[in-house]
Amino acid sequence: MKVLISGAGIAGLTTAYWLEKYGFKPTIVERAPTLLTGGYKIDVRGSALGVLRRMGIYDTVVVASTHMKGALLIDRKGKVINEMSGDAFGHRVDDDVEIIRGILCQILMDQIPDVELIFGDSIQEISSSSNGIQVKFQNNQPREFDLVIGADGIHSNVRRIAFGNEKKFLQELGLYLSVFTVPNYLNLDRVEMQYSELGRVAAVWSARGEPNMKACFGFTAPPAEVDLNDQAQQEQLIRKTYEDIGWEVPRLLQMMPNSTDFYFDAATQVHMDHWFSSRIVLVGDAAYCASPMSGQGTSLALIGAYVLAGELAAAKGDYQTAFEKYELELRPFVLINQKLGITAAKIMRSKEKNNFLTLLFQQLMRVAPGCLIKLIIDLSTRRIKKAANSIILKNYKG
Ligand SMILES: Cc1cc2nc3c(=O)[nH]c(=O)nc-3n(C[C@H](O)[C@H](O)[C@H](O)COP(=O)(O)OP(=O)(O)OC[C@H]3O[C@@H](n4cnc5c(N)ncnc54)[C@H](O)[C@@H]3O)c2cc1C
Repeated sequence: MKVLISGAGIAGLTTAYWLEKYGFKPTIVERAPTLLTGGYKIDVRGSALGVLRRMGIYDTVVVASTHMKGALLIDRKGKVINEMSGDAFGHRVDDDVEIIRGILCQILMDQIPDVELIFGDSIQEISSSSNGIQVKFQNNQPREFDLVIGADGIHSNVRRIAFGNEKKFLQELGLYLSVFTVPNYLNLDRVEMQYSELGRVAAVWSARGEPNMKACFGFTAPPAEVDLNDQAQQEQLIRKTYEDIGWEVPRLLQMMPNSTDFYFDAATQVHMDHWFSSRIVLVGDAAYCASPMSGQGTSLALIGAYVLAGELAAAKGDYQTAFEKYELELRPFVLINQKLGITAAKIMRSKEKNNFLTLLFQQLMRVAPGCLIKLIIDLSTRRIKKAANSIILKNYKG
């Protein structure tokens, strides 16, 4: 069966690997001119490690991982109020691993040398019939496929074409996230520093092998407070939100306009009643994004790809049965992990409520901020561990 996958991210590359292994003929079309390398660091946890192991790349990922040494929790003047190991700070336990997103993509791409990859193009139109699918591309000639898989991220092109306007499926969590690269003037070596309070986090880190460092701002604001297509407005919102924070924040904000990779988005989840329609199916963020707040997006992409390809192999071409089983198998795991994102957002947004717990939290933050933040991180690690292990991988045979 000829399968077109839109998107060469974690979900798309992993789906292609497993489909090829099971005897399908996958082709990937990626909008970017080359594989998107670099980017932020991401975690792979729990059951998703089983996918890496079954692909034989777990050790390679560990060698290429960030090897973060530690984290310093600081107050708004820059005084260190607590220290944690890199793993404890990143909610990683047991064999969990942290790696730069682009490095993981490169490792995944290295596993599929024989898969056709079309860079610099995008699907324009899809027409399904009982015999197959005709796909029109923006640049290349139209082609026939048996199935189309949308693995093209939170603002999925395939989802828009097959299921309609994304507004129906996106659920904003009331938080914004910005990440951009700045020179490593603090000489951080595999260390992160974070200022946290309810509703506002500011952090810097330098991962292994990165000459620069990343600045990251995560904060609550009412949805639609900012135009997601207007960088000047976004920068202004960040400046306004952090104007009273000392530490390195004023300097980072000064550097912000000079950064060449300014990223800004609303923390958003994708909720759909079904992830498939006829011969088209979605996987990864395109289908069920849990938001960066969950810390589980990459693991969900890896496991979703494994299950989708596995069910297609098990159904021996009966794609309707495969898609139904894929959804049945994966949905409980997705829901548990999406809940992580919602819980994390609720904690950040609890500042908006003037209740007893918030007041108590604020009081404790005055007395022992370092211990309190560490406690919150530890509690959250327990929740994430449980969710990350809440699926048992089936053994699929091609
Ligand atoms: C700032 C930030 C921090 C994060 N931190 C974490 C973390 O700590 N842990 C974690 O697990 N996850 C984290 N995530 C989330 C994680 O990166 C995603 O959930 C995960 O990468 C999902 O993979 P994906 O393949 O579904 O989508 P993506 O990685 O978004 O890949 C989609 C691919 O599709 C391509 N594409 C888009 N449109 C088209 C088109 N029209 N045609 C063809 N191709 C197209 C894109 O170029 C991209 O290559 C974070 C995300 C962000 C933004």
